[in-house]
Amino acid sequence: MLNPLSESTVCGRPLAECLQMIEAFHGFQAPGLVLGMYMVDWAKGLIGPEVEADAVVETRHCLPDAVQLFTPCTVGNGWLKIVDWDKYALTLYDRRERSGHRVWLDLEKARSFPKLHNWFMRQVPKQELPLEELLPVILAAGRKVLSARAVVLTDLYRRCKKAGINICPSCGEAFAARYGERCAACRGDGYCSPAGRILG
Ligand SMILES: [Zn+2]
Repeated sequence: MLNPLSESTVCGRPLAECLQMIEAFHGFQAPGLVLGMYMVDWAKGLIGPEVEADAVVETRHCLPDAVQLFTPCTVGNGWLKIVDWDKYALTLYDRRERSGHRVWLDLEKARSFPKLHNWFMRQVPKQELPLEELLPVILAAGRKVLSARAVVLTDLYRRCKKAGINICPSCGEAFAARYGERCAACRGDGYCSPAGRILG
């Protein structure tokens, strides 16, 4: 997509490259992820290059991918934690100092960009606001619709350590010992049931 901002640098890379990364990772240039890229960019700038920051993201939608793409934090390595509040906000922090910066989509500021505001508040059906129309607005807005603040972490700052494991007497699989004798699935709290024979 051609636009006058394509020369700019975000998250330490040319914008065009960032947008390509988003598309390759997420399947398309999701507006929430593009906005998230600016949020990560600002938070990274505030915390500084010398801190290897951990992250908390306050929604499961889109935003975790921005952190996973543009910081070393992933769900898998445990540096990214997600709280399921559906708030468009993230915090990058120094886990030893427990201090960091929270960046969020500021609804008041977003009012200056009505298309962005209406998209975010889910006030327009997707067909009426195609990506070609919305993306340039998000690129033009960038940080202008965000706010940021220094924060002190009061929770979630510890990295999750792997704890002890038990072997389930029913299925023979290993699972977190804190759940007791039998695994959740064999206790009846599973999310799937067997269909067909064991393969392999
Ligand atoms: Zn079991």
